[in-house]
Amino acid sequence: MAELKGARVGIMGGTFDPIHYGHLAAAEAAREAFFLDRIIFVPAGIPPHKNEKEVTPARHRFLMTLLAVMSNPYFEVSRVDLDRGGVTYTVDTLRDLRKELGPDTEMYFITGADAILEILSWKDPRKVLSMAEFIAVTRPGYGLDKLAAALGPLYQEFQDRIHILEVPPMGISSTDIRRRLAEGRSVRYLVPETVFTYITNQGLYGVKGER
Ligand code: ATP
Ligand code: MG
Repeated sequence: MAELKGARVGIMGGTFDPIHYGHLAAAEAAREAFFLDRIIFVPAGIPPHKNEKEVTPARHRFLMTLLAVMSNPYFEVSRVDLDRGGVTYTVDTLRDLRKELGPDTEMYFITGADAILEILSWKDPRKVLSMAEFIAVTRPGYGLDKLAAALGPLYQEFQDRIHILEVPPMGISSTDIRRRLAEGRSVRYLVPETVFTYITNQGLYGVKGER
């Protein structure tokens, strides 16, 4: 169903393998700073450069994302990328969401610094940049001062649609969380309690039994 005219919607794409407080805090900061009416988290199917075996099955990532956002009335989860199947390209995500949200919704695609710095390697970067406004949030270890160089000629063309947002720095990544779990180390306070419980109960990431 189309949105109310002029609705402002944030879109947070990711593999969410698993979702963590870095994702949630970035989305909430973007919501507040850009007066977004809601944020849609969009778990990816298979991310480009990875094969199916390298990511946790979609049903687990979808459920963990749902568990993580449940307590925030402004957050929700979309299955567009999972239902389309195969490799997820942001150009397809934005096309499908535009169809769903209608022409009058303002779409803000939220990415961390690492992701936006790699945008030239995405499928159809010029098209992607023309399909939504972008909120590039800071992330420890990745300097957005390199954005102009990373975007090349696209920077001139699209800089007015790319908004840099300083967010509380959180040195959390899914890669680090997966590694910690495989080594039997703690991930408490890096992921929501609900996600931690799900991981433990399902024995994901090599977790064995209660800890
Ligand atoms: P992985 O280590 O598996 O790549 P990740 O922690 O980078 O996982 P993704 O699912 O790849 O998580 O990221 C989804 C989006 O969230 C990306 O745009 C990424 O830049 C952003 N993001 C992830 N973690 C943070 C963080 N700690 N601070 C700011 N942005 C983040
Ligand atoms: Mg990542």
